[in-house]
Amino acid sequence: MTKTDDEWRKLLTPEEYRVTRQKGTEPAFTGRYTDCFEEGVYRCVCCGAPLFGSDAKFHSGCGWPAFSQPVGDETVRETPDSSFGMERTEITCRRCGAHLGHVFDDGPGPTGLRYCINSAALKLEPREKTPRPDEETK
Ligand SMILES: [Zn+2]
Repeated sequence: MTKTDDEWRKLLTPEEYRVTRQKGTEPAFTGRYTDCFEEGVYRCVCCGAPLFGSDAKFHSGCGWPAFSQPVGDETVRETPDSSFGMERTEITCRRCGAHLGHVFDDGPGPTGLRYCINSAALKLEPREKTPRPDEETK
């Protein structure tokens, strides 16, 4: 999945564009999903690929949404990132290359991992999105 810079710019809000296409970071505690614990699937804001499940989300207190693991092995790509004088592992969407955030190995869960992801890179699809039969006729 490849789009030109201009296409992404039209598709995304300025903040989403800055984070996902320019490897930006949203300010701590400002993201729409930092304190969101609604059940559902967090998809890539750029291409819609399912990335993280709400069951893997935990409250890290770090100011960004945190997950213990992605929904599958093939969903995200991990790349060493030594920018800003720090040794970190960058997380990008495997399908479209969107910058999502970083992964750290200080997580509280069984994986020991903390995927620290920008809200601006995610779009929550709440569970039970399909309408019930009695609502379809309206
Ligand atoms: Zn994507």
